[in-house]
Amino acid sequence: MHRIDLESLDLAADIMHDATNLAVAARRGLPPEAIVQKPDGSVVTAVDVALQIYILSELEEAFGRIPVIAEEDHHSIGGKLAAEAHCRALLREWGFDGGESEIARLLSSGQFDGRARDVEDVWVLDPIDGTQGFVDHQHWCPCLALLRRGEPVFASNGHPTLAGGVLLSAVAGEGCWSYPLDAGDEGEPTRCSIGQDLPAADAVVRVVAPSRATDKQKAARRAVGEATGRPCALVQADSQAKYGLVILGEADIAYSRRGGGPGNYIWDHAGAVLLAREAGAWIGDVDEGPIECGLGRRLVANSAVICAARGLGPAVARVLAERDREEHLPPPRRSHA
Ligand SMILES: [Mg+2]
Repeated sequence: MHRIDLESLDLAADIMHDATNLAVAARRGLPPEAIVQKPDGSVVTAVDVALQIYILSELEEAFGRIPVIAEEDHHSIGGKLAAEAHCRALLREWGFDGGESEIARLLSSGQFDGRARDVEDVWVLDPIDGTQGFVDHQHWCPCLALLRRGEPVFASNGHPTLAGGVLLSAVAGEGCWSYPLDAGDEGEPTRCSIGQDLPAADAVVRVVAPSRATDKQKAARRAVGEATGRPCALVQADSQAKYGLVILGEADIAYSRRGGGPGNYIWDHAGAVLLAREAGAWIGDVDEGPIECGLGRRLVANSAVICAARGLGPAVARVLAERDREEHLPPPRRSHA
């Protein structure tokens, strides 16, 4: 089976660096007709689809064809003629020279629906995580991960809204690195390193809440921070930018609960699992078990993805496990197959 050389993944980080900057430019010129609704009612833009096609095309050229789990497909903006036209215009502007059949092939290539743990290498791509934030001028990020036998071994997330604009990249065992988005080849990477000591008893614990959180949701997030025995302040962000804030030392706790739903999509979490771990953050579930990325397009075995700095992870896991019990939600379903 085709296996990507981990030494060559700088190329994939370069592709995500360029793709993020292309999306930043496309954001500035985004016409209202390029913003449409998916069949499920969520917002999507021509940039999401164009960026997915562009990134998959570049990855194929650099690494050959491997299975891909990606968010968008031909339903995303299909039939919305003005959005489709804007998508084609962006691709031409970005130098993509494949025709309609190549666009269709690339767009359908991200539908791998098996278990990544049964396969050597699988790309996981969310071309724009946080499309609502992209539209609203808040947080958003292009996110790429490589799973090997279901485990994230590479991640590269572009964060134009964090730390002045950075790309966070990691290869398993080699640390998490931040590169400025506005620098070319001469840009200097900085290693992300999160302190392991518990914060002082009177230190304010910063918890990430969704940007459109209700008062009730904000109170619930604040209670999680206060359960660590310290005062709490909320920071607002959606998408994998919430984990980026922890990785960059601008927040202490970010989490996503499954609730009663079918499980979170892996493209919203897979990259952050590796980036956070390599940066020295705690990342795990309410039972302190691992996030299992190799079971399909969703995190079917996990109740939550918790990312925490400075030794706060286990305390957060206990609070959220208790909340799951109060709400009669099932515990994580560990797979041992
Ligand atoms: Mg997306």
